[in-house]
Amino acid sequence: MERYLRNIAIKKIGEAGQERLCKARVLVCGCGGLGSGVILNLAAAGIGAIGLIDSDVLEVSNLNRQFIHNTEDIGKLKVLSAKERIQKLNPEVTVETFALRLNENNYQDIVKEYDIIIDCFDSYKSKFLLNEIAVKTNKPLIHGGVSEFCGQVTVIIPHKTPCLRCIFPEPDLEAKIPEGNLSPVVNLIASIEALEAIKLILGIQSPLQGHLLTIDALNLTFKSLKINSSRQCVLCS
Ligand SMILES: [Zn+2]
Repeated sequence: MERYLRNIAIKKIGEAGQERLCKARVLVCGCGGLGSGVILNLAAAGIGAIGLIDSDVLEVSNLNRQFIHNTEDIGKLKVLSAKERIQKLNPEVTVETFALRLNENNYQDIVKEYDIIIDCFDSYKSKFLLNEIAVKTNKPLIHGGVSEFCGQVTVIIPHKTPCLRCIFPEPDLEAKIPEGNLSPVVNLIASIEALEAIKLILGIQSPLQGHLLTIDALNLTFKSLKINSSRQCVLCS
């Protein structure tokens, strides 16, 4: 427990809260920019088990922001280099890797083993699929997205708070998210995602349940927009 003394010193955590963190199982979907910050924050905090999903290998152009990986990892599966980094940071964390693309046929056996899903994917298609999986399996989902200087985060508790399809009923799944990404902006969003996961595990009510936090990092404006569950939602109504 010495490792976690500064967590335990926080009144809202304490020893009981740290034990909850150490027993928690979190599935991180995507080991790229958002995944780097989310995974390292969760591993440092002492999350008991972290699942990693990503089918990609590391490319040199990823390294401007995906700092869980190292230059020597170029060409390696991201789930494997991320696992190595976690084990160097905190060998007490159990890491499970899934070098695959999540789809309608393979999610059940993976997702059922975890308490919380975190969206660190980088395409609309994969983000909305993850939302569908969270609703179908009734797992809390921390959604995050980032592009250039803008980002957003929300916490989805299926059938209790609005899902992504409540907010965006007819998404263009083939649209491309602008690919410019700057490390501090990505990690601002990633840090909030990790924070929200930790709060969920500790049982601390989040202001992002039923709200979409939008961040303009250029002007440093943070807006929390109230969102409502849709009676017409094809997934969760
Ligand atoms: Zn919905």
